[in-house]
Amino acid sequence: MLENKFPGKDITIDDIKTKFPLVAKNNPNHFSKFKVNGVEFGGKKIPIFAGPNMVESKELILDCAKNIKKIGGHFLRGGAFKPLTFPYRSKKYTETREEGIKWLKNAKLKTDLPVVTEIMEERYLELICKTADILQIGSRNMQNYPLITACAKTKKPILLKRHYGASLRDWLGAAEYILCEGNNKVILCERGVSVPHTHRNTSRFLLDLQVVPAAKEITHLPIAVDPSHATFWRPWVEPMTLAAIASGADAIMLEVHPDPENSAVDPLQPINFKAFKNLMNKMDKVAKILGRTVK
Ligand code: PEP
Ligand code: MN
Repeated sequence: MLENKFPGKDITIDDIKTKFPLVAKNNPNHFSKFKVNGVEFGGKKIPIFAGPNMVESKELILDCAKNIKKIGGHFLRGGAFKPLTFPYRSKKYTETREEGIKWLKNAKLKTDLPVVTEIMEERYLELICKTADILQIGSRNMQNYPLITACAKTKKPILLKRHYGASLRDWLGAAEYILCEGNNKVILCERGVSVPHTHRNTSRFLLDLQVVPAAKEITHLPIAVDPSHATFWRPWVEPMTLAAIASGADAIMLEVHPDPENSAVDPLQPINFKAFKNLMNKMDKVAKILGRTVK
């Protein structure tokens, strides 16, 4: 039997030594700190990614970028290439793809906000890298090893979302694929897991905040939390965001949309600019209790 000093978790001493040695901490105080466009991850300040689910139009993403910047968000998020659950499309519910990446670039140039956006296929890597400051690997591709290896080789920072069915061990294993390519700029992102009961019959996921301290026992990588995708429900985004900060999150991802009810994708989860501003203030207060800041 392998020795296991972490009861209740499926990670063994052997895993730490041989399966993900680069992802694992080499001492209790070992935490990764790195900067992306001047914004530090893993430090005292907690970076905030904000933006719509989908880059719907040039105007919408620019409006988001301007407001998010004004309110104090640090990164603009938005998907142009999106893993939509069903194959059918209406005019509104259609990925904006290459065009969307151009609109993201325009918003970035006009506001100076760095961008995080999802990549689903290696063939778009070059195109997306021209605009993205951080490549987002969506939860559905967490174990798409050829894709994450190709992304790792670009040396761009990578936001690795946890698959909703993945254990911490699986997630860290996927992160090791990036580090072993010599790319140490990895941000892990918890975004909710599938469980039989989620308190509301339309909830898709349960935010696993316990994974934040659990991950920190093992890895030195910064951990982001995305309460928007996890809760799938606007009224729960604020309390779970504050709880995420309290749990030790090193970054927060939030869906922010000028007209949430009319968001092309997942209209139940985004918050508007006013709610985002209010939440930034509250996040900062909770962070300060922990000796950290958001603003
Ligand atoms: C997203 O961030 O838009 C997204 C699709 O997230 P996830 O991969 O966590 O579902
Ligand atoms: Mn989404």
